[in-house]
Formats: sequence, C-alpha cells, structure tokens
Amino acid sequence: MEPRILLLGAPGAGKGTQSKRLADEYDIEHVTTGDALRANKDMETEYGTPREYMDAGELVPDAVVNEIVREALSNADGYVLDGYPRNLEQATYLSEITDLDAVIYLSVGKEELVRRLTGRRMDPETGDIYHTEFNMPDDEAVRDRLVQRDDDTEDVVRDRLRVYEENTEPVIEHYREEGDLVEIDGEASPDEVFERIVAVLD
Ligand code: AMP
Repeated sequence: MEPRILLLGAPGAGKGTQSKRLADEYDIEHVTTGDALRANKDMETEYGTPREYMDAGELVPDAVVNEIVREALSNADGYVLDGYPRNLEQATYLSEITDLDAVIYLSVGKEELVRRLTGRRMDPETGDIYHTEFNMPDDEAVRDRLVQRDDDTEDVVRDRLRVYEENTEPVIEHYREEGDLVEIDGEASPDEVFERIVAVLD
C-alpha cells in the first residue's frame, strides 16, 4: 500500500516544495488544489470563477475544491495532499472519502512566511520555485522567465494569512486533538525538512 500523506501548513511553509519531493521519493500522486485551481482559474462554476476568490486571497467555495479532491483521490493509490483541507468542513469531507497514514504540519513564523511569499518566483516551464533573495537560478535564461504569482503581492499575502488563521488553524488543531499530527520545524533548510518528514514516514 502506498502512503497517503497530508501536508499541512500556512501559505509559504514549504508544502509545495516538500510535496514534490515526496511524490518523487515514494512514487505517489501530488494532489494540490492550488495548482488545480490555477490551471482552471477562469472556469465558470455556479459560484463564479476561481479567479474571483483567488485574486482576493479568499477560499474558493468548498463544493468546487471538494470535487477536485474527490476526483484526484479516486485515481490515486498513494498521494501527498497539499493545500487541502483549508477549513473544518473540508476536513470532514476528506474524512468521508479517504483514510490518512500521516498528517504532517510544517510550522513557520508569520514574518518568515511574508518574506518567503513576497519574494517567491516560479519558473513557468518547470514549476520550480525560487526566491529573489535566498535562491535564484544560475541560468540567466531561467532567471529572465521567472514570474510572480498574482496572489504573492504583499496585500494579497496579508489577506491569505488572515484567511489561514481564521479557517485553517482550526484544522490543524482538529488533527492535533485527534492525536494524528506530527509537527516539524518548517524554518529548517529544505533538505533538513525533507529528511525529517521521511524519518516520520519510515
Ligand atoms: P495555494 O497555491 O495552495 O496557496 O492556493 C492558492 C489559492 O487557491 C488560495 O489562496 C485559495 O484562493 C485557492 N485554494 C487552494 N486550495 C484551496 C482549498 N482547499 N479551499 C479553498 N480555496 C483553495
């Protein structure tokens, strides 16, 4: 049986980076609502388009994201889930459609999150993540094509962190109370964080 992993943490905690590595390491699916929504930002739903919520840093309605996750998990044996659940209703829905083998929470302080998110840049060709201060690519061609996510501007970042505190911190408390949560210091280097996650899983 492949592992079914839930990775929790604030925006900027390193969920995307670590999920990619875990998906490679264990040969499992990387299920991420954020990427799925970005690829369908202008899709019409009965609630409007995802863009209307995402550009404001708000949560896309549960019905839309629950369906994305249901579909993705129905095709996956093992997976690492990243960016979902973001509120208690989503956590309840998730518990109805799957069981989890590990729940890991990457903890990072707020000012560090703001610094990471506002400096974050992405290579649109590979999806690789860089940072203007800490980690720029050596290749000039790659440097020149980096883009900033629409919602990584300082204003929207503050809104996303507020939404996180209001909606997603209770989800972390929920898993903590259930005794399933393993907390890892997300301010360690990416390699160290990865090693610690693998140690937990093994
Ligand atoms: P992320 O890439 O995970 O930071 O997600 C980017 C944006 O997509 C969020 O700010 C939300 O607007 C939306 N989004 C991603 N995942 C969810 C989710 N589970 N529930 C609601 N909205 C989501």
